[in-house]
Amino acid sequence: MQVNRVLLCIDRKHGSRETAAPDLSNFLFLIAAKNSLRKKQVMNPSSLLKKYFGFDSFRGPQEAIIERTISGQHSLVLMPTGMGKSLCYQLPALYFDSTDQPNRPLTLVLSPLIALMQDQVASLRSRNIAATFINSSLDRKTREKRYREIKQGEYCLLYVTPERFRKPEFLDVLAKREIRLLAVDEAHCISQWGHDFRPDYSRLDEIRKRLRDPTTIALTATATPNVQDDIVSRLGLLPGVIKKYCEGIDRPNLKLEVSHVWDDDEKLMEIRSAYNSLVDTSGNGIVYFSLIRILESFSEALRKDSIPHLVYHGDLNPRNRKMLQQQFMTTTGCLVLATNAFGMGIDKEDIRFVLHAEIPGSMESYYQEIGRAGRDGRDSFCKLLYSQSDLETQMEFIRWSNPDPEFYTRVFDFIENESEQVTAFGIDWLREKLHAKNKHDFRLETALGMLERFGAIEGYREGLPIHATGSLPELLVDCDFFERKIRYAREKLMALVRYANHTEDRREFIHDYFGVPLK
Ligand code: ADP
Ligand code: MG
Repeated sequence: MQVNRVLLCIDRKHGSRETAAPDLSNFLFLIAAKNSLRKKQVMNPSSLLKKYFGFDSFRGPQEAIIERTISGQHSLVLMPTGMGKSLCYQLPALYFDSTDQPNRPLTLVLSPLIALMQDQVASLRSRNIAATFINSSLDRKTREKRYREIKQGEYCLLYVTPERFRKPEFLDVLAKREIRLLAVDEAHCISQWGHDFRPDYSRLDEIRKRLRDPTTIALTATATPNVQDDIVSRLGLLPGVIKKYCEGIDRPNLKLEVSHVWDDDEKLMEIRSAYNSLVDTSGNGIVYFSLIRILESFSEALRKDSIPHLVYHGDLNPRNRKMLQQQFMTTTGCLVLATNAFGMGIDKEDIRFVLHAEIPGSMESYYQEIGRAGRDGRDSFCKLLYSQSDLETQMEFIRWSNPDPEFYTRVFDFIENESEQVTAFGIDWLREKLHAKNKHDFRLETALGMLERFGAIEGYREGLPIHATGSLPELLVDCDFFERKIRYAREKLMALVRYANHTEDRREFIHDYFGVPLK
């Protein structure tokens, strides 16, 4: 870096009138010397991969995506969870940082999940990578300090939630840096029909313009062709300038099976037989359930059978969950009964089977969950135990994940007009007021989460007093939107029913669903 600066001075001097013009050979020598020094400083992606991550080679389409990104072209990446999407923007960030430039370029990562971004940043920092995050978990002092550091050019990778763009101070900070790359992680959150919808992802076009049209990479594990198109148009890009990478979807070592079952005894037999297939191997298995109540009844039955297993679900406290996750990661021959709360950060190579004892809500979730099997490339099986009566559970989930306009109106009224009571007596009091007495009915949580995402309320996720900060979003009280959203969720569930009844190639079915040709 220092030598380069010296050379820059020499260049500048040559351009000045005071110095006599150098003869040509001298000039060419200087250019050659400068280029050779640059070459030494700029590391290629493979060396950066080895240096920072310790990996010897790229996986699947990673290298092509990284090269395209470095050359300044946009990409949409569809790759199953755990395949390594993050490297597709982390490596370009390191590459840009290794090039010698007067202003340090910044890679900005939009990520909707606070916990996930914190884990990622911690892992990057442990590898000596100058990464950081800004989100609502930071107190004011820390946040302001971080803003100052970013302005001064301290980091090459910055993770934020999309909502951050609502804050003018943040926009001021960004204006001081060159945003070389914008990475939009979990890009399916753009889809307003899904549960993961983040209203601020709809503003990506505007965000990109504000950042002066940076190279953009959008990444997701699953997106149907409609959602893919939606992502591209929300980014404000023409389909011709963004390349789609979907190669990672095929997992030939996963044997896809469906078993039609009539009762719990049949399910239990299937679980026992899957467990027995682990004997004499160091492999592991996961059985997924939709309801904690059902999971527990199966756990009880397995205990009676002396089949050792772990139990993991969202009602366990975070400490317990972490402990169980660690236990799973370090034990061999382990069986775990889990709800979909289990999975994030599960990166165990030798999961020999993923069984679904109840039908999940969509092909997207199913594909995500079975994707945890066979990461080591060895044969593994994924079996859906299909019983028509389980559909009712999912239909109920759809209702609870989509509160109707009247429910939203009532929740918002309470927060706007009786916020002191809500603060004093808590969410359970509010639930009772709303007559949502069923213990498992999570409509209130859905409504509060969504109102917060729209910026209509604040405080819910941080566990602070909830208060109104805006007006009731029109979209949430639009009856037509509500009906379409419910219909869309039901269609997604029906696709899984079709999958269960599909008698031909199930791999082909999945590829068709995601609009990716089977090679
Ligand atoms: P995704 O975002 O697609 O779910 P991650 O980016 O979190 O996946 O990566 C999952 C795991 O794969 C991480 O532990 C990561 O270190 C590992 N990984 C990614 N790329 C490679 C590679 N080329 N070689 C070895 N391991 C890799
Ligand atoms: Mg990821």
